[in-house]
Amino acid sequence: MNLIEITQKFPTELDCIIYAEKIRYGKKPKCAYCDSTNLSKRNKDYRYLCKDCNKSSSVTVGTIIQGTRVPLQTWFFAISVITDAKKGMSALQLQRNINVSYPTAFAMYHKLRVLMAEENKNVQELDGIVEMDEKYIGGKPRKLNHPHVNEENMRPRLLNKRAKKHAELEKDLYTLKKEGWDFTPQGKNRSLIQQNKKGRGTDNIPIVGIVQRDGNVVAEVMRHLTYEKLREMVKKYVDEDKSLLITDNYQGYKSMKKIIDHIKIDHSMMYSYKGVNSNTIESFWAIIERGIMGQYHSVTPKMLPNYVAEFVYKYNNRENNPKMFDDLVHNMLKPTSL
Ligand SMILES: [Zn+2]
Repeated sequence: MNLIEITQKFPTELDCIIYAEKIRYGKKPKCAYCDSTNLSKRNKDYRYLCKDCNKSSSVTVGTIIQGTRVPLQTWFFAISVITDAKKGMSALQLQRNINVSYPTAFAMYHKLRVLMAEENKNVQELDGIVEMDEKYIGGKPRKLNHPHVNEENMRPRLLNKRAKKHAELEKDLYTLKKEGWDFTPQGKNRSLIQQNKKGRGTDNIPIVGIVQRDGNVVAEVMRHLTYEKLREMVKKYVDEDKSLLITDNYQGYKSMKKIIDHIKIDHSMMYSYKGVNSNTIESFWAIIERGIMGQYHSVTPKMLPNYVAEFVYKYNNRENNPKMFDDLVHNMLKPTSL
């Protein structure tokens, strides 16, 4: 639903509340504390007094948005604006769109990502041809001089660009070191490239994704990639008996054959062979990279899973699922703690 439709359907705060009550309670409003339908007439501040437990409650009591002091209509606007922004948006943009303060916009966006993550749990098991891959936000340094590069498949322009960037970086670092700067690697595997990208904090954290061709995607932030965890992820999200798994030849996928039909494609040799490729998951990574690198400047490792959830949710609803708005409102009004 776009902003105009929201304004037409819910012109006032009361309209939003009545709609929310229907979603949360069904036909008759209930007491949020004891489920009683024995309520007083609606007060001026739209709350009810329960005649059984004598508590006053509103439709947001016990939900993720309780106590936020943001009108429901503003929440509805935020859902509309955020679901509409296919490539993601910044909290600053959201702030401008819905006319709240920056900290409020930031906090609202965070909560809405939690609701999207919740909705992602409803994705059905993937089957058919599924591609699995891992992605380091900010880029994992890659080996640049493969001995067996097949130029036709290696996308030479991309490689040259990367190689050039790498060379420039090395040159810069060399100059800086000569000037007396210290670039001692911290922790193992911290390359000079990563040193140079210091400050984002998410560089070393991999995201693992599985996508069904022409279907849905699932993705998880995984701090440590192990055979077990990768296999667990396949078991959790993929119907192993009805699927063929395609990965690159990263050693973490070594023992997948035990649980699922598995083909590996060696990216140092080629990217695609007779339909065996990981192009679908690559296009999802492109969305993630653009969204997280391009627009979010301070994604902390703790928040990364929620950012990923937003893009998973949007990818899986890319055909403009008309239920998006209702689904999120539904999740928003689920009681979380009472
Ligand atoms: Zn009650």
